[in-house]
Amino acid sequence: MRTDFTPEQLADPATAVAEAVIRKCVHCGFCTATCPTYVLLGDELDSPRGRIYLIQNMLEQEAEPAPQVVKHIDRCLSCLSCMTTCPSGVNYMHLVDHARAYIERRYRRPLAERAIRALLAAVLPYPRRFRLALGLARFASPLAPLFRRTPQTRPLAAMLELAPRTLPTPLQQDATPVAKPVGRVALLQGCAEPVLRPQIRAATLRLLARLGYQAVAAPGEGCCGALVHHMGKEEAALEAARRNVDAWSRLIEADGLDAILITASGCGTTIKDYGFLLRGDPVYAERAARVSALARDISEFLAPLDLPSPQRSGITVAYHGACSLQHGQKLPDVPRSLLEGAGYRVVTPTEAHLCCGSAGTYNILQPELAGRLGDRKAANLERLDADLIATGNIGCAVQIGVRSNRPVVHVVQLIDWALGGPKPDELVDLQVEN
Ligand code: SF4
Ligand code: SF4
Repeated sequence: MRTDFTPEQLADPATAVAEAVIRKCVHCGFCTATCPTYVLLGDELDSPRGRIYLIQNMLEQEAEPAPQVVKHIDRCLSCLSCMTTCPSGVNYMHLVDHARAYIERRYRRPLAERAIRALLAAVLPYPRRFRLALGLARFASPLAPLFRRTPQTRPLAAMLELAPRTLPTPLQQDATPVAKPVGRVALLQGCAEPVLRPQIRAATLRLLARLGYQAVAAPGEGCCGALVHHMGKEEAALEAARRNVDAWSRLIEADGLDAILITASGCGTTIKDYGFLLRGDPVYAERAARVSALARDISEFLAPLDLPSPQRSGITVAYHGACSLQHGQKLPDVPRSLLEGAGYRVVTPTEAHLCCGSAGTYNILQPELAGRLGDRKAANLERLDADLIATGNIGCAVQIGVRSNRPVVHVVQLIDWALGGPKPDELVDLQVEN
């Protein structure tokens, strides 16, 4: 694609990266067919190709973002389905991330939008605040129908509707000491997952100990930064990345690490991109690249290991591949193979490539589109008539869980169970043969 940036514009490294991405696009439009917003709305400006045009114009003209442009960029889920489809290797993720940061710097959103975004950025990345907010949400849930009445307050309604009715009790999350470890790994604590489903971390720690891996804590580690990054809050995202690079680098430099494990695939996609995000930072670039190289989704880490039998059988699992895993990390089949290897019968829904609408804070900020995608995904999963639904990302588990009567669990909980761990709490009503 021809571009018209000036040499002065291209002197800015971020603009130069954006221009290189735009130039790779050949306008073929293959990506439109797999873009969830284009599938729903049928508007070229809500397709990857249309958004690339909008972003190009905005950046070339150094224009103040127009509300119409912001609307179409905001509607993008960052699901990265377009990157899987694109035959030209367009790195849409880096382009849209840059566009979001540009919009955040130069566009003044209406007050209600600014307030809700500030609230999300101030609460979600911090487990204590998030837990407190979920506690308050339980009391405020009767207000959801009221908030649903106006577009400005709909995100508040979405927040209340997504909040669980009961919160799980925090679990003991310290790793068991392993006598003669075969390896040493850090396990990302994360922000939303330990509050919403502490069972996922507990299962992972049990499994790692059983497989002979010593999991170690990284003091100072926090939210990966994905939530604020997807809202265009670049500085906050870079701050989170630097803090985590510092925390993991201390472990790497002290006793070494075999891997940095992540059980929420949305976080994994961002951590694997730390090397890119901090590429221009002379203090962090090298260490950030090292951290990204060590980052592994838990399914990616487990897949090559020689996992022991006993196995679990007679259970049909509907596997939902999170976009961050199938498109962001290019691991579409690994969790499925892992589950099959552990004895589960695995089925996948039609439109498996389409996002469930969770997408970080998307189901709060774009509740209408997210709701349509969530309903569509849940219906496709229901049709499989499986015993349960499994996924590898907490956001998807919540988005699908509020729309399905079937239990939704993390893949690692099923692997832990198959290899000797307890039956996941979510499956208490499931009758099993063995
Ligand atoms: S990231 Fe997803 S929603 Fe955004 S343009 Fe690509 S396919 Fe469409
Ligand atoms: S598939 Fe790739 S090259 Fe074709 S229009 Fe989409 S982004 Fe551009």
